[in-house]
Amino acid sequence: MRSPEELTIAFREAGLKVTPQRQLLFRLLHNNCAHPTADALYSVATEQMPGISLRTVYQTLNDLTSMGEIQSIDVGTGSSRFDPNVSDHHHAVCDECGAVHDVYVNQAPEMRGLNGFAVADARIVYRGLCATCSELAQHR
Ligand SMILES: [Zn+2]
Ligand SMILES: [Zn+2]
Repeated sequence: MRSPEELTIAFREAGLKVTPQRQLLFRLLHNNCAHPTADALYSVATEQMPGISLRTVYQTLNDLTSMGEIQSIDVGTGSSRFDPNVSDHHHAVCDECGAVHDVYVNQAPEMRGLNGFAVADARIVYRGLCATCSELAQHR
């Protein structure tokens, strides 16, 4: 995802309105590696700018997704998560706290059973316990 300043220009060039609410969302998403849901983003935004609507949050997320600035990911936790990191990566989800981490796989694993199937995209979701939760589990 580009910087909030660059996005402001890109949105205007695309004929989209840029409001202080939208600029706040650009800033909240920039370098955000928490993979927030729309609701999570909304509650953080509300603290900084009371009165921002959930509709604005959804609309801005939609626009950013269709412009390819962020990606919407489904890691099986119910709601879609939003990721400003659009590089090729996978995710690890903690079954305990729901934290989502980026996972980079250097080499494609050797695959069996494709039988000539041409793979266009692969999104792997690893499940388990994050470092914090597995530490807590050991001391329980
Ligand atoms: Zn955890
Ligand atoms: Zn990610």
